[in-house]
Amino acid sequence: MKVEFLGGFQTVTGSATLLEKDSLLWLVDCGMFQGGRAIEERNRNVHPYHPRELSFILLTHAHIDHSGLIPKLVKEGFRGKVICTKATFDLCEVMLKDSGHIQEIEAEWQSRKNKRSGREDTAPLYTAEDAEKSLRYFQTVGYDEILSLSDGVKIRFQDAGHILGSALIEIWVEEGGQEKKLVFSGDLGGSGQPIIRDPSPVVEADILWLESTYGDRLHKSREETVQELLKIILEAISQQAKVVIPAFAVERTQDIIYTISQLMRKDLMPSIPVYIDSPLAISATEIFKKNPDCFDEETKGLLLGGEDPLELPEIKYTRTTEESKAINEDPKSGMIISASGMCDSGRIQHHLKHHLWRSESHIVFIGYQAEGTVGRRIVDGAKTIRLFGEEIAVRAQVHTLGGFSAHADQRGLLEWLSHFRNPDLQVFVNHGEEKISMELSEIIHQRFKFRAAVPQWREKRFLFTPLESPAACSGDKGNFVMGANTGFNGPCKPSRWRAKGLLTGFTPEKRVVPGEKIEAVESPEERWSSLLKNLERGYKKLRGKLKMRRSKRGDIRDAEWLKELEEVSKKLEELEERL
Ligand SMILES: [Zn+2]
Ligand SMILES: [Zn+2]
Repeated sequence: MKVEFLGGFQTVTGSATLLEKDSLLWLVDCGMFQGGRAIEERNRNVHPYHPRELSFILLTHAHIDHSGLIPKLVKEGFRGKVICTKATFDLCEVMLKDSGHIQEIEAEWQSRKNKRSGREDTAPLYTAEDAEKSLRYFQTVGYDEILSLSDGVKIRFQDAGHILGSALIEIWVEEGGQEKKLVFSGDLGGSGQPIIRDPSPVVEADILWLESTYGDRLHKSREETVQELLKIILEAISQQAKVVIPAFAVERTQDIIYTISQLMRKDLMPSIPVYIDSPLAISATEIFKKNPDCFDEETKGLLLGGEDPLELPEIKYTRTTEESKAINEDPKSGMIISASGMCDSGRIQHHLKHHLWRSESHIVFIGYQAEGTVGRRIVDGAKTIRLFGEEIAVRAQVHTLGGFSAHADQRGLLEWLSHFRNPDLQVFVNHGEEKISMELSEIIHQRFKFRAAVPQWREKRFLFTPLESPAACSGDKGNFVMGANTGFNGPCKPSRWRAKGLLTGFTPEKRVVPGEKIEAVESPEERWSSLLKNLERGYKKLRGKLKMRRSKRGDIRDAEWLKELEEVSKKLEELEERL
C-alpha cells in the first residue's frame, strides 16, 4: 500500500492524502490551499493522478481547506463517491457553492488586471455551477457505521469534535493476509466545546495521521476566554464602540452566538445588536438547526427546555450588501461577526476598513490565522494594512482569544493520543506549520515512544512493505519504508521522491536510495515567492545590523565595508533596471 502526502503537510491548508492499494486509488480530504499566491498556485498544479482514476474521497469535514477542490476534481473527471456525514454534506452544499462564487469573482478580477497588462484571461478554478454539479457525487454515512468500500477496505466515521458533522476516519485494509488500521484524525476539536460532541477516543491503529494546528501551545480555558470576551464587550458598550469578530462561517460564528446567549441568559451583559454579516454564516446557522442529532447533551437539554441557544434578542442577519453597509452607519455599540475568518476575503474586509483605524474599536480573533493572510498580519502587529487599495492604520484594540478555537491545543492532542494502545503506532504529524509539527512529533516520541514523523508536501511512502535496504530507514522496525535520510522518532526531514516520478503517479522503481540527490519539488511561482521573501528578510536583517554598527561609529569608517555595500547596492540597481 502506498501513500502520497498532497496537502496539509507543513501547512494547515490544502489537506489531502492520496492512498493506493492494489488498483484502488482514493483520497482522504481534498482541500484548497489558502494564504497567498505562491501557496494557492498549488490549487492549479497538476494532480499526481487523474481524477478519473480515483474511486472515492473520504471527507473529514466541510471546511474549504479540506473540501475545497472537490468541484475541481469533478470538473476534471472524478466520477467516484465523496463519502462524508450528513451534516458535512449539508454544509458543503452551501460552502462549495460559495467557494465557486469566490473563485469566479477572483478570476474576473485577475482577468481585468491581465487585460490591462496585455495578458490572457484567468479561468476560475471552478464555478458555483461546477460546485452544484459536484454535489451529486456525495454519499452520506452515519457516525459509527462501518462501511465496506471494496474488497479489503472498510471505513468508519467517528466524532472529531471540530465542527458540525466533522469526523475522524478509521480505515481497515487487508495487507498480506493481515488486517491493518489507518486513522485520520482530521481536524480535532478540544473537549468541552459548546454545541457539538467531543472527539471520540480511538484505541487501536497501526498508522495515525494527526493534525497539529496548535501542537505547540496551550489555549486558555474556555471559562477564562469567555470572561475576556465579556470584558471586551462591556468596555465597547461603555464607549459606544463596536466589537468586530472575524469568524469562520461555520462553528466559530455559532459558538460566539451560543456564548453570548449564555452571557445574556445569566444577565452578565445587556442585550446589544449582534450582526451576523455573512450570508454563509446565516445558511450555516440554519444547517446547525437542521442537524440537532450532532449536538452534545447540554445543547440538547437546552432545546428540550424550550430554549434556542442559537437565538439572541437583537440578532440581525444581514444578507444584502446594503444591509451590511448600514451596520457601520449605526453609531451605537454592537458586535459584528463576519467572514472570512482569516480576513482574506468577504465582508469582514469592509468592517476592518471601518474599524481598524478607530482606537475605540475592538477586533477579536478567535480562530486560526494562517501564514500570509491579512488576519495573521494584524495579529502579528502590522502597523498598517492594505485594503481595497488603501493603507489603513491599525489603531483598534486587537485581541486573540485562543480558547474559542475549534482545534485542540497541545494538551488536547496528547490527551486524545494517550488512548492508543499499540506501542508500535506510527504517527504522521500533519496540518500544522512545519516548526509546530516538528515540535509535536518530538513530544509524541518522548512521551509515548510512538514513532512520529513530519512528511513533506508531495512526499511518497510505502506503507506495510518489508524494508529492502536497512540503510533506507534507520531506527525503523521493518514495515515502514521511507526515503533516504529519514527516520521516525522525532523531527526529521524526509527526502522526496524525484520530481519526474511525481507527475506520473506511484513509480516504485523510483524509490530513493541512500545518498541519491533529491530534487526539490517547487513550482517557479513558489521559488519566485520564496526568493522575494528571502530578499526582504535579508534586507531587514542587514539594515538592523548596519544600524547597530553605526552606533559603534568605528565600523562605518571601514572602507572595505563601504565598498561591499556599494557593490550590493549597485547589483540591486542593475537588477531593477533590467526588470
Ligand atoms: Zn477544519
Ligand atoms: Zn483544517
